[in-house]
Amino acid sequence: QALKERIKRMGDVVFQMDLETALRYSLKHEVATTKLITGEKLRVLRAYLGVLRKYFPFGRGGQLFLTELAMKLSEDPVQGSTLAEVIQRAEQEDSLVFSSPQQWLACRGSSPTLRGYPCGLWKLFHYLTVNSAEQNINDHHANPLEVLDVMHGYVKNFFGCYDCSQHFQDMAARREMRNVSSLDSSVLWLWMAHNEVNKRLSGDQTEDPEFPKVQFPLKERCPVCRNGDNTWNLVEVLRYVKHVYSSINVRYIGAD
Ligand code: FAD
Repeated sequence: QALKERIKRMGDVVFQMDLETALRYSLKHEVATTKLITGEKLRVLRAYLGVLRKYFPFGRGGQLFLTELAMKLSEDPVQGSTLAEVIQRAEQEDSLVFSSPQQWLACRGSSPTLRGYPCGLWKLFHYLTVNSAEQNINDHHANPLEVLDVMHGYVKNFFGCYDCSQHFQDMAARREMRNVSSLDSSVLWLWMAHNEVNKRLSGDQTEDPEFPKVQFPLKERCPVCRNGDNTWNLVEVLRYVKHVYSSINVRYIGAD
């Protein structure tokens, strides 16, 4: 309870534990449970591994793990069980891949059926868009859709929530994701898309009463993110989202 209160007080903090738990869930329960991975699924998975290797906040052990997984994708088709074996080895206590137990921290719901993985998946992809923008700041030829395309492909081909996947694909078309033309715009596109989902789900039965769906960020967390007429100040929103999801601000449990 004390930890829960402390995490709530910390505000919009991103924890390494939530990012790793989301990644582990995604790989174990959505990717490796697919019997045969081929065609579009395989292309998407290769691209997913590609952005994870570039931007996921792993140490050396984690990088080696992602490289080993990526090497298994050179075959076609790939058996999910082959990937499951690599993941199982990575989860052995002495493998130095994961820095934390597979548990939710800021994504923990007030009951086991609430929050968790969908929360972690949002955070993972916000993190990846922001870190792609940070790392490629001087590369004017960087692909602004690199991470969003991967998210779209992942959600379409692997995300277990069918309705969420359909909604997300519809939104990507309606909100013209493919017209995103800079890395900063990709950060803002995902922020906007997530807020649209938050609005739709506000008051829904899936909402955790302890974590009501709000338009992010709350006024008290970022007063300058809203103009006087309550419209968004996109320059400040971008600054805030980049700050929250920046690699240097990711916290390890215990850090204050
Ligand atoms: P989440 O909405 O999961 O947010 C997680 C955290 O992200 C928040 O705690 C906050 O710190 C941060 N955050 C919130 N908004 C923003 C923002 N705009 N920008 C940056 N950071 C933000 N559920 C459905 O019932 N129907 C759907 O159609 C549906 N579609 C989904 C589509 C996708 C791609 C994903 C990943 C999830 C979808 N979900 C859907 C699940 C839903 O969006 C929530 O993830 C889930 O209800 C858990 O909510 P949460 O309270 O943990 O907060």
